Amino acid sequence: MQCPKCNQEMDEVECGEVVVDRCRSCHGLWFDKGEAESLSAQWIAEFVDTGDPEVGESMDDVDDIHCPRCSNVMRRYFDISESQLQFEECDEHGKFFDAGEFTLWAENQYL
Ligand SMILES: [Zn+2]
Ligand SMILES: [Zn+2]
Repeated sequence: MQCPKCNQEMDEVECGEVVVDRCRSCHGLWFDKGEAESLSAQWIAEFVDTGDPEVGESMDDVDDIHCPRCSNVMRRYFDISESQLQFEECDEHGKFFDAGEFTLWAENQYL
């Protein structure tokens, strides 16, 4: 699969039953629908979200992110309590997080 932000190859990272896709270049993470929710434990976030959060933040400027599954433009979500946290979502297929953002998102799941 190709990264929806920088078009580089993504590697599959196994997390128990679930396979997450991680970009080799920007370290963004793709989760198929429901996977992010099932993996939101803190240790898993630290395990898969290995990219540099500063790189992740710089990727927030990339617009028109297309779903890697269906090529539709994904919706961008902002978290008002965590200004660095922005992620893209396709209703049908899943979520894309820049490096560092999945960790923030996972932390906020339990607040
Ligand atoms: Zn990428
Ligand atoms: Zn899609």
